[in-house]
Amino acid sequence: MDELPPAITHPEDVAALVAALPLPESYTVAELSRACGHLMDTTIVVQPYPESIVAEANVEGRPLPSGVLLNTAKGVHIFYRSDTSAMHQRHVILHELGHLLCRHPTATVDEPATDLNTANISQAAQRSHYHSDRERAAELFAYLVEQRGGQLSLPGRNRRDDPTHADMLRRFRSTFEG
Ligand SMILES: [Zn+2]
Repeated sequence: MDELPPAITHPEDVAALVAALPLPESYTVAELSRACGHLMDTTIVVQPYPESIVAEANVEGRPLPSGVLLNTAKGVHIFYRSDTSAMHQRHVILHELGHLLCRHPTATVDEPATDLNTANISQAAQRSHYHSDRERAAELFAYLVEQRGGQLSLPGRNRRDDPTHADMLRRFRSTFEG
């Protein structure tokens, strides 16, 4: 862990990171996640909070955070609330990817994703209160990616094979491994 490069928090560094991302004109969450996963040498799974977790949180009157980023032994999981607008959901996903790409420490749970329960999510949400400079960096990341104008489509929306996907991955690698 000590060998990891430092977290990115300075606005100019965030801007440089986003500028270096070779985003295609449109991409799905899955495609962006795969590309970011290659970039960070991990597997990223993005999905709405499971229904059971939403139900438990409702019963307990404890609102779930807009999104949460979890590390497990199998990779990185991003959960987001699906009861908000598509625009907000996209922003939340980009925000969480921003934390990841900026190397902000994330909540870690031991259980595989299928065993994630409300306690895990809740605990992770509490632990994922980043310092404000990291929150600003993730927000800036999401904003700047949105400013790039690329369309990020959510799962289930006009999903089609994207011929630019392989090219995006190639450019991702060459950009960051060069
Ligand atoms: Zn955040």
